[in-house]
Amino acid sequence: MSIRDNIKQISASLPSHVTLVAVSKTKPNEAIMEAYDAGQRDFGENYVQELSDKAEQLPKDIRWHFIGHLQSNKVKYIAPFVHLIHGVDSFKLLAEIDKQAQKNKRVISCLLQIYIAREESKFGFDMAECEALLASPEFLSFKNIRIAGMMGMASNTDNQTIVRAEFHALHEFYKRMQPIHDLSVLSMGMSSDYKLAIAEGSNMVRIGSSIFGERRYAPKTV
Ligand SMILES: *Cc1c(COP(=O)(O)O)cnc(C)c1O
Repeated sequence: MSIRDNIKQISASLPSHVTLVAVSKTKPNEAIMEAYDAGQRDFGENYVQELSDKAEQLPKDIRWHFIGHLQSNKVKYIAPFVHLIHGVDSFKLLAEIDKQAQKNKRVISCLLQIYIAREESKFGFDMAECEALLASPEFLSFKNIRIAGMMGMASNTDNQTIVRAEFHALHEFYKRMQPIHDLSVLSMGMSSDYKLAIAEGSNMVRIGSSIFGERRYAPKTV
């Protein structure tokens, strides 16, 4: 199937409260434009250099989501235009986003990444840390960021029981924090597990390979 057909089919299958972020990392501008022409406007990238290049070259009404691990020293490159930063995983990073947002006279929306998987390598806050952060005076002093919600990645396993339990736990935490902190976004689910994520309360899915096909070459690591 073509990218266009994939976008049409996946968009049509999603409940109306779920936002589709098309993950275009490593894919060329032509592939993004094919999705764009099918009506897609939210795209996700995980390398700063690649995102900056694409944002410069592609239509200005694209909403760019940064979904990877963001280093503090690179925030300045995406601060002028990024729509939503999904993977905020440290206080230091939040402080830098606030600073760069202020320089650009913007309020940047962020999702706190919550650690839910079993693997040791995944980035993120644990729930207690996140709760403490949201209540801390330092956090409340930030004027140029908005915490729009939370993001999580389940374990990379075929065991649906484990994946479901991880999504469920994050949704429970999100529901508890949502009214206190006025949250609206729960970003969970990728190609392999987005249906399960939606069943467990996700309202934003990040889908790459099911739209654009497998990623065949290694992305730039800049
Ligand atoms: C690459 C990536 C995705 C998309 O993965 P697919 O399996 O291709 O759908 C989603 N979320 C994050 C954080 C990613 O890095």
